[in-house]
Amino acid sequence: MKSIAIEPRECHRDIETYAPASGSCAIDLSDNTNLWGAPPAAMRILRARGAETISRYPQSYSADLRENIADYAGVGPEMIVAGCGSDDVIDSAIRAFGDAGDVLALADPTFSMLPVFAKMNGLRTASFAFDEEYEPSADAIIGSGARIIYLCSPNNPTGTTLSRAFVEKIVRGTAALVIIDQAYIEFGGQAFADIVSTGRVLLTRTMSKAIGLAGLRIGYGIGAPDLIRAVEKARGPYKVNSVAEAVGSAVLREDRGWIAERIADVRTNRARFVSELTALGYAPIPSEANFVLVPVADSANSAAILRREGIAVRAMPSLTGIGDALRVSIGPWPMMERCVVALRAAR
Ligand SMILES: *Cc1c(COP(=O)(O)O)cnc(C)c1O
Repeated sequence: MKSIAIEPRECHRDIETYAPASGSCAIDLSDNTNLWGAPPAAMRILRARGAETISRYPQSYSADLRENIADYAGVGPEMIVAGCGSDDVIDSAIRAFGDAGDVLALADPTFSMLPVFAKMNGLRTASFAFDEEYEPSADAIIGSGARIIYLCSPNNPTGTTLSRAFVEKIVRGTAALVIIDQAYIEFGGQAFADIVSTGRVLLTRTMSKAIGLAGLRIGYGIGAPDLIRAVEKARGPYKVNSVAEAVGSAVLREDRGWIAERIADVRTNRARFVSELTALGYAPIPSEANFVLVPVADSANSAAILRREGIAVRAMPSLTGIGDALRVSIGPWPMMERCVVALRAAR
């Protein structure tokens, strides 16, 4: 049979598959996951009944898990959509509310997956640099005519948060869908939970970071019920698998204390890490997340020096308004101590 070249969608042509610099490292401070590990109920459920349910489909839209998430988030279950990671929720929301050719507005620098999700759905992006308060110009974003506005607070990779005045100005000033990515909300920043009643705001959160379940891929969105149903339709059924569903629910019911202790550990170790780096002459950006962005002269070179010491961090070259930087996740103090020692040598 004759073979015929088949072209993917034009908007997909320059999408690259996700490939963060990796390779095993004794200490991995590169991906902002919970470096203390998974919460205790997760291990217990996996051992006791991990395989029990896998010959059957999970619940189509994760009703039980959504109940537990709603309780954790302090809202009603009709205001929750769950997904295969919050990535899936963000992607589904873009698909639900953006037509091909529409503009998605976002800050620069922000979460690196957003331009990819925009492209995957045929949208164009418009980026807006931060001012000295780490907020982009609300007027410029409003003036962009964006169909979707993506905000991230605390922001990856800066760790900085958005003020209520800024978010309210954006929501008041446009008719766009406003996505506020709160992957790091447990560590700081405002919840903005009341703003979802406008019906145009979707908060996205995850069990991958503070809650220690990145490998299970559980994320969720919080919004007004109609908006949530629209995102759910774009997402499709069965996106959260049955193991994730069982473990996610158990952890939210039983491990709130463990989660709170780890959040407190992060805050303590973050303050100590920042003060030690400052003493070494670095000027880390004040962070409300479980990572710190540290400007350096040459991020590739600094990351390579750390890697030789067995420490992986995320090299961030040429960030707008910041220049080169390293993004370092905060974990147990012995890990941070080794990182401080290596950064002293890299100075
Ligand atoms: C890690 C991260 C996510 C992705 O979370 P998942 O729930 O694992 O898909 C989303 N947004 C930001 C800003 C992140 O840093």
